[in-house]
Amino acid sequence: MEKNDGSTGERQRVAQLQLFHQPRQGKKLLVLDIDKTIYDCTCSNIYRRTRPYLHQLLEESFKYYDICLWSLTDMNTVKFKVNTMNIGNSSDFKILFYMDATFSEMVMKQKPIITKPLSKIWNVLDQYGPTNTIICDDNPDNLVQNPKNGILVAPYYFKNFSTDKELQYLQNYLKYLSEAEDVRKVDHKKWKEIEMKLRK
Ligand SMILES: [Mg+2]
Repeated sequence: MEKNDGSTGERQRVAQLQLFHQPRQGKKLLVLDIDKTIYDCTCSNIYRRTRPYLHQLLEESFKYYDICLWSLTDMNTVKFKVNTMNIGNSSDFKILFYMDATFSEMVMKQKPIITKPLSKIWNVLDQYGPTNTIICDDNPDNLVQNPKNGILVAPYYFKNFSTDKELQYLQNYLKYLSEAEDVRKVDHKKWKEIEMKLRK
């Protein structure tokens, strides 16, 4: 007979990270949100769902970062979107792992909000910690547990497909950030200002 003391069930609910390759030594970790950060699921034209410059960003960032995707949906939806964006099987970059909503955590602020605590990664993969992990998301709520590790990006809407350059700017900033000893020492609230100066 099964005991119902909560402990077994709790353990079963602990989500597992599934790695597609080994973490690379000396690389920082880049955590990318999917919806509205790199993808707009509302577009009927599949080609325009993917945010412009995504492939360039992944290819360039892969030189300095291991890369993971974290979406507050389920794993099948994550995989579907990865396929649509055609980023699951590139020779130029590799995604290290995917995370879905089961890794999220609710915290109480003025109201309950869903967050993406980076400790869910740090507790499992020793190589990554507060000094070398950066998370990019269009929803500030997701970043509240690690504000100094978070870059807030403008949301992507497919109607802006021909003019959207957010990921080009982000790629530039991430390259700059890759040299930081501790990513928390750079003020990511000013990332756009910093990036603009880098271009001059
Ligand atoms: Mg999002």
